[in-house]
Amino acid sequence: MRIDLHTHSRVSDGTDSPAELVAAAAASGLDVVAITDHDSTAGWSEALAVGPEHGVTVVSGIEISTEYAGRSVHLLGYLLDPTLPGLVAELEHVLAGRSARVPTIVSRLREIGIPITEEDVHEQSADAAATGRPHVADALVALGVVGHRDEAFDRYLSWGREAFVDRYNAPLEQTIRLIAEAGGVSVIAHPWGRSGRREPSEERLAELAAIGLSGLEVDHQDHSAQARDALRAIARNLGLVVTGSSDYHGTGKTGHPLGVNTTDPTELHRLLERAAAASAAAGRRTPVVELP
Ligand code: AMP
Ligand code: FE
Ligand code: FE
Ligand code: ZN
Repeated sequence: MRIDLHTHSRVSDGTDSPAELVAAAAASGLDVVAITDHDSTAGWSEALAVGPEHGVTVVSGIEISTEYAGRSVHLLGYLLDPTLPGLVAELEHVLAGRSARVPTIVSRLREIGIPITEEDVHEQSADAAATGRPHVADALVALGVVGHRDEAFDRYLSWGREAFVDRYNAPLEQTIRLIAEAGGVSVIAHPWGRSGRREPSEERLAELAAIGLSGLEVDHQDHSAQARDALRAIARNLGLVVTGSSDYHGTGKTGHPLGVNTTDPTELHRLLERAAAASAAAGRRTPVVELP
């Protein structure tokens, strides 16, 4: 069984529709794929509906933008009830913050001589729950200012660059609790990714496990072999589930093809057991997963 637990569609910053994403998962030989758009569950119904015709089990998930100890942490939530009011409000807050900074980003780019408009950006995010930096990057590609999304981030949009504008993130600990209240399970996405820092540390992760964190995404393209080994050891010590995934964004992110990293079936079973326990404890009806 080949399992990929972290992918994006056009509902956030991927380039496939949710149905195309599931078809692509089947074509890549995956048996199980989770749809985990940034801060939105809007792609779930379309993805779940086409799973059976492709022989793929779709797991409903989300990747929530949170903050912990002053740093950005991406938190994956699986099999949660997306109607929990506290969660809905928190996601709306994040999505509103993402979209609200677009005018500032656009005017910063215009100040440095790039003739981009808000309309150019919104053309790129027509199917998305919110307009983010990746859509600004796509607009810069369309205008011929840069060749690829990565280049737009490196030159203009990343932290410290001229057009970087900060936005709201949900508090991590509160979000772990909200996912549990919604009957779901939470896994930290690429915990030591990008920055290369070994933070959160094992001590911090132990505290997060104590308040309900269920797993760590160990096998991710942003982690070196050494980081993966160290995170696997921490997960073992803390009893956390180990996941692996592609973080596929369609053509929006190079080097992240579907199934490039996968999750061990035993680990998925552990995650599903914890999800069943969470939904029973929360008294919530959550999405059901039928494995092949
Ligand atoms: P936002 O939430 O609008 O700030 O956009 C953040 C998203 O942009 C992340 O979730 C990534 O998918 C994407 N991203 C961040 N850095 C890069 C990069 N250097 N190249 C391409 N995409 C990136
Ligand atoms: Fe993304
Ligand atoms: Fe992420
Ligand atoms: Zn992601």
